[in-house]
Amino acid sequence: MSDVAERLERVRARLRAAVASARRAPESVRLVAVSKFQPVNAIRAAYAAGQRDFGENYVQELEQKSKELAALPDLRWHVIGHLQRNKARFVGNLASVVHTAHSVELVRELDKRATERAARFSGDETRLRTLVEINVGGEAQKSGAAPEALPEILEAIERAEHLQLAGLMCVPPQTDDPSGARPFFDQLVRLRDLHGGAARLPELSMGMTSDLEHAVLAGATIVRVGTAIFGERPRAAQ
Ligand SMILES: *Cc1c(COP(=O)(O)O)cnc(C)c1O
Repeated sequence: MSDVAERLERVRARLRAAVASARRAPESVRLVAVSKFQPVNAIRAAYAAGQRDFGENYVQELEQKSKELAALPDLRWHVIGHLQRNKARFVGNLASVVHTAHSVELVRELDKRATERAARFSGDETRLRTLVEINVGGEAQKSGAAPEALPEILEAIERAEHLQLAGLMCVPPQTDDPSGARPFFDQLVRLRDLHGGAARLPELSMGMTSDLEHAVLAGATIVRVGTAIFGERPRAAQ
């Protein structure tokens, strides 16, 4: 087994344990392997071990990797980094899921550009599944929408022809103890309940290497895990 395959198996075991202690169904949480700054061979190794969902932060890097890995069938790209409007065309037509919609303008641009999906995707993937990133800590340096902006962003996604409203996402402020993230995960759950519940917002994308157990207990349906699967990222790139 490759290092990546071994680490992936450990992450799956952590997820199984977390889901069991939360008394949730095993298939209720999807693992996205965050491959930013990692070489394509690491992605190939995870793919060979059965991983299909991969998260990238930077559109240029995603563009490059998606070309190199175009031959891998049913690999799904998740865009999890701050997204600028001038990248909307590429993301709109290549990603399976975008986690980081944060404004009405960005939503409109994504919808306007996501016109070539039918050539690449089929079934319910023809529309780009879109989550809204919430700046749960209200941090000036972090991206994501303010909770007050949520109603108009959600409505814009629902009006969009090529997008499918999928849920909410957050990256809580850094804390020394992983349990420090829990109040922010609970905040995302409350926002979901306030704005239509799981029927309207089925996905909650929250939890990373250090705090995935807390996220699963809070109700995450997608966890985004990088370091625990691929090892430390190259230092300059963190
Ligand atoms: C890098 C990153 C992750 C993964 O972080 P790890 O701590 O390496 O698991 C998850 N989500 C986002 C938005 C990230 O930028």
